[in-house]
Amino acid sequence: MVSYIPSIHFELNTYRIFIASLLLLLASTSFAQDYKTITAQKGDGIYSVLKQNGLSPGEYLNQFIELNKTKLGKDNSLIIGRTYRLPIVAEKKPQIQDSAPVTEASQEKKVYEIFGDKYKDVTITSRELSKAVFYLMSGHGGPDPGAIGSLNGHLLCEDEYAYDVTLRLARNLTERGATVYMIIRDPNDGIRDEQFLTPDRDEVCFPNQTIPLNQLARLRQGTEAVNKLYAQNRSKFQRLVVIHIDSRSQKQNIDVFFYHDKRSDAGKKLANTLKDTFGERYARHQPTRGYNGSVSERNLYVIKNSFPPAVFIELGNINHTRDQKRFIFSDNRQAVSNWLRDGLIHDFNKSFK
Ligand SMILES: [Zn+2]
Repeated sequence: MVSYIPSIHFELNTYRIFIASLLLLLASTSFAQDYKTITAQKGDGIYSVLKQNGLSPGEYLNQFIELNKTKLGKDNSLIIGRTYRLPIVAEKKPQIQDSAPVTEASQEKKVYEIFGDKYKDVTITSRELSKAVFYLMSGHGGPDPGAIGSLNGHLLCEDEYAYDVTLRLARNLTERGATVYMIIRDPNDGIRDEQFLTPDRDEVCFPNQTIPLNQLARLRQGTEAVNKLYAQNRSKFQRLVVIHIDSRSQKQNIDVFFYHDKRSDAGKKLANTLKDTFGERYARHQPTRGYNGSVSERNLYVIKNSFPPAVFIELGNINHTRDQKRFIFSDNRQAVSNWLRDGLIHDFNKSFK
């Protein structure tokens, strides 16, 4: 349960201090030492190294690649002299919080201030994602507004719209029993239903870090926040979802695009499942529309360096009138976040047994 508390709400100062010191403690004591490491020798490959360490390649191959994806050579070969992390054997004992299943009649209610006054009360309607942990990261924030478009004299800032969709997704996943961490957090913008979201600069990075202006420092900060949490949740299913809005020429109408790191099979599977879910929903709701969303590899710092399998989503072109409708209207922001939730549930059901 402790890992659940810091995920979304921070309404109590005492909790905040307690969690901050807990996180500090975890970060400084257990994180670095949790992984056993090996140094690759001549002739070593992932299979042989896993076997030598009593880990079944069938079970741990993908995890090994995820943990070491920045250090692998061509075709996932090991490079002699480099140090690699070994996956941690999953705990087989049941989690305490699963021992008392929630029945329909006793649906749990929780309050998360981060969703704002109108949306802070959340009813946990199912436990289907109780073994899933999602790290949700909206693009930019703090001093960096990301892409800027305009409509009817209003500035449209990428970070505000990406944040609202991400927050709606966080609420959707929480309702289904998931543990959700909002990595970029705004202390006073909850879920907003207006068309024009006022830009501000007060977003912070989990748990409460000032976001630097320098791009690399900003990306590293978010990635490190995710990677610290990853170590605490290792017996669970974990995914990182990064949400941005693209900026292209005014003429270019684009669909929702999904990117994954080239070394991550799980990330690729996740991206494809999300794309298929969007294709299926568009076919159902707007049969004449056609959908040209795509999945591709892309070399992006956050998805390359984060430990959990990750997907990077571009919701559209902030400069294109038709794309703008996808995020200007709150109903559409909600629909996008519902479809993302449904895709994430499919991915969880396919990947985690
Ligand atoms: Zn962006």
